[in-house]
Amino acid sequence: MNFNLTSKLPHVGTTIFTKMTMLANAQQALNLSQGFPDFETDPKLVELVAKAMEKGYNQYAPMIGAQPLRDAIVKKYKEIYNVEVDATEELTITAGGTQAIFTAIATVVRPQDEVIIFEPAYDCYAPTIELFGGKVVPVRLLAPDFQIDWDYVATLINAKTRLIIINNPNNPTGKVLDREELIKLGTLLEGTSTLLLSDEVYEHIVFDGVLPQSVIGIPTLCKRSFVIASFGKLLHTTGWKIGYCIAPALLTQEFRKVHQFNVFSVNTPMQFAIAEYLSDLSYVKGLPAFFEQKRNLLKDGLEESRFKILPCEGTYFLNIDYSAISEEKEFEFACLLTEQHKIATIPLSAFYKEVTNQQVLRVCFAKKDETLWKAVEILKKI
Ligand code: GLN
Repeated sequence: MNFNLTSKLPHVGTTIFTKMTMLANAQQALNLSQGFPDFETDPKLVELVAKAMEKGYNQYAPMIGAQPLRDAIVKKYKEIYNVEVDATEELTITAGGTQAIFTAIATVVRPQDEVIIFEPAYDCYAPTIELFGGKVVPVRLLAPDFQIDWDYVATLINAKTRLIIINNPNNPTGKVLDREELIKLGTLLEGTSTLLLSDEVYEHIVFDGVLPQSVIGIPTLCKRSFVIASFGKLLHTTGWKIGYCIAPALLTQEFRKVHQFNVFSVNTPMQFAIAEYLSDLSYVKGLPAFFEQKRNLLKDGLEESRFKILPCEGTYFLNIDYSAISEEKEFEFACLLTEQHKIATIPLSAFYKEVTNQQVLRVCFAKKDETLWKAVEILKKI
């Protein structure tokens, strides 16, 4: 019996991250594919979770999120961008970045609406848009610089353009849109009813002295944006699945109508623990240096290899070009590296809808230094 089941997502399979991690595990390979740290979070944070549980924070949190966590987030935006976010009207705690993205898209995208995304794009955007009947309008950006032609983007915006999605800093390219580019986008959208979803889950992982650039700090964009962030990347706790969405009151009201029937509320003790942990922002401010050292370890280590290193301004991903080594397509080459050389990466082509082959692999450097040294040793021999 097939129950007359017609797939709502006929072209979607298992995500590349799950696939490559499974292959890495099966092959006992070093896993530099899926983006998650192989080191522990701060034991102090774990202790705070235990304390919150002991204190009895074990029942439903408020639907919009625990007050102390919302207050801590408001304080962060005030301190870093000097912007006042309203903790009651504009901020909702979510079960991670992906749920926030899903809910924002579900909130505003209707059949036939157009949504502009930039490829390579994080894998959840397009299927979610399509699930709600929207039409994906991809802007293809190519290695090595993945530059956006804003004049071209302007030609794509029309009355049907409901939403534009940006991811800044960008997974997988490692590019950071600077203030000037964001202001340009703000100017493009002036006078339109197009909304923006700004996926900022790597907000604080920026290098070489560059400052974080949330659209919260760009008034022309902030007023039409869902700003989405995640504690998984910030606190090395990808398994905790806690994030948030900031949007103007009207958008937040609609967002919460969907959110309340999607997850209702998010796990309580972690929210209290994170709130207390973030009462001092020095941890957040130290994150760029922490990851910059890891980026440099990998980048410098590969200098004498046959891989060409692409620029990496932010996120915890470095892209490496293997065109001097093999003519194999990206997915095949990534599998071959996992099976024969015991190192797993992500093919860049996984982030494009149409077939591409730029001979580039994404390598996650959110790993212990010893893991990165091992990776360098393997990659240098290829
Ligand atoms: N964000 C992670 C990455 O880009 C993966 C998350 C997931 O597996 N869905 O690797």
